[in-house]
Amino acid sequence: MERIQGAAETHVLILPFPIQGHINPMLQFSKRVACKGVKVTLITFSDKQFTKGEDGLVSFESISNTSEESRKDMGVDDRMKKFQDTVRVKLPEIVAKHGESGFPVSCLIYDSMMPWALELARKIGISPASFFTQSCAVCAIYYAVHEGKLNIPIDDQASVSLEGMPPIEVYDLPSFVYDMDKYPGALSHLASQFLNIGEVDWIFYNTFDILEEEVVSRMESKCPIRLIGPTIPSMYLDKRLEDDKDYGLNLFQPNTETCMEWLDTKETCSVVYVAFGSIAALGEKQMEELAQGLNMSNYYFLWVVRESEEKKIPRKFVQETSEKGLLVTWCPQLRVLAHRSVGCFMTHCGWNSTLEALSLEVPMVAMPQWTDQPTNAKFVADVWKVGVRVKVDAEGTVRKEEIEKCLRQVMEGETANEIRKNSQNWKKLAKEAVEEGGSSDKNIEKFVEELKCSSN
Ligand code: UDP
Repeated sequence: MERIQGAAETHVLILPFPIQGHINPMLQFSKRVACKGVKVTLITFSDKQFTKGEDGLVSFESISNTSEESRKDMGVDDRMKKFQDTVRVKLPEIVAKHGESGFPVSCLIYDSMMPWALELARKIGISPASFFTQSCAVCAIYYAVHEGKLNIPIDDQASVSLEGMPPIEVYDLPSFVYDMDKYPGALSHLASQFLNIGEVDWIFYNTFDILEEEVVSRMESKCPIRLIGPTIPSMYLDKRLEDDKDYGLNLFQPNTETCMEWLDTKETCSVVYVAFGSIAALGEKQMEELAQGLNMSNYYFLWVVRESEEKKIPRKFVQETSEKGLLVTWCPQLRVLAHRSVGCFMTHCGWNSTLEALSLEVPMVAMPQWTDQPTNAKFVADVWKVGVRVKVDAEGTVRKEEIEKCLRQVMEGETANEIRKNSQNWKKLAKEAVEEGGSSDKNIEKFVEELKCSSN
């Protein structure tokens, strides 16, 4: 991506929620905006070496005032409070500093999970814009909760009918809707993304028009959303991997060389890539079933097990799989998905992983764990038909036989052919949306024009 030269230095601050699945799409969006001749500074909350610096398009500024180590023992609520307190102090300082050095900031694009940032932006005198990192369907569900249109607590036998959505069962909803006791406060926090939505200047969704057509038009009738996704760097969509720079702000250190060299030795579409994102944690029993299911399928596999989860890997499995599998603690996921040898992605269906696989035509075995993942999995299997979804047994476990069956369905035979055809089509449409003149590209262009007009 190259930056337009000589354009006016309108300056935007980007404030992601400080977890990997929120940083990635906002960083890629930042790059797209920067390409249109806007100065972009992305705020990070990490003291890790590999999250600092500049990548030529976007500047990074860390506001962390405590070490990652000292935050490790904090609970989620304390971490979030610390983050919010720090933003409230540091953001006005950053805006003032840039004003004095001749790069006044005109807009704050904040993660929709932080609706409190709107008031802060207004107080500093810059335009607020909200960025939603979830799918439009998931947003529509949280919006229905916000509007009181979904009866909570929900009857678990109910079939849910929401305008613009296919008929869905309760267990296709985000887990915070049906598992409220397990995550107290989570649902009202997510519904609060819409609290002050009528007051923001721009609203961005990481999706594209055709992907969620009906639900997008329903949400558009409520508030003026701009679709800017998928936030995948275009070089991956073109498979121009030689241009690759790493995805960017990794909170985990990727084992890049090990993965890519191993994949290079494998035949086209012969490898199952298995990863559950940056947060989901499988139980020990589930890890055991997954390990055995992979073994039984006999495909090559690349399995990401984060350092914090490694102790759950069955020891016997590690000894047995040296021939067939590669276990790593983190990988460059986009490069892996774009590699010719990867034939299928066994995924938790985080929204980024879902969009990445869909945009790179990698068929999926959907194994959702919690939060918005069941809804994404529903769309993968039943709406876009780019994968299959595993069935869970009465104890909540996906058994090894089921895993083996689903992998076979996606890797070979008639269902696999059908899925591959659909995947090719979605990849084409995703690419069209983000390339020059495509719907998402035009939406970013329009935002930049409006921003420049408003800051002149
Ligand atoms: N990711 C990665 N390497 C890995 C696993 C994941 O780079 O080994 C990236 C992946 O490409 C995606 C993000 O981490 O952009 C995970 O986001 P997602 O929404 O899929 O899941 P979450 O982590 O939020 O549950």
